[in-house]
Amino acid sequence: MTDIYTIQERSKIMSRIRSSGTAPEEALYSVVRELLGDHRRIDRNVSRLPGQPDIIVPSLKLAIFADGCFYHCCPNHGRKPKSNVDYWIPKLSRNRKRDRANRAALRKMRYTVWSVWEHSLKKHSIQRTSALLKKRLASFVMLRRCEIKRRNRSIR
Ligand SMILES: [Zn+2]
Repeated sequence: MTDIYTIQERSKIMSRIRSSGTAPEEALYSVVRELLGDHRRIDRNVSRLPGQPDIIVPSLKLAIFADGCFYHCCPNHGRKPKSNVDYWIPKLSRNRKRDRANRAALRKMRYTVWSVWEHSLKKHSIQRTSALLKKRLASFVMLRRCEIKRRNRSIR
């Protein structure tokens, strides 16, 4: 695909996007990418899977969502909207139902599903979140390795 921008313009645009990096999905991706290193494939916004996961790590069968505090009704920041209540209340409740259904569908496909709240991906808490994810990923990778070993054994 040809770019309408010159390389210089494009890299300027991309560096601006990277340095602003405020979107929770971006922050989540950067953390996971850093933790997993370059050798594992990470797919983003995977529309062929239920709920269009923000991140899929195919080799681990792991799906990770960055959940917006408002749209996904975070217990700390998911306050009830004050205007257009007739629109928002049913919509948010539909969101929640759809989330649950999508994640159940993913689990049925043998994906492990993790969710990370938007507030955990903000600048002030990203370091803590990264440390938590690091621990979780390390034990998860071990778990998957054991599963694969077990599976191989049972075939023989
Ligand atoms: Zn929140």
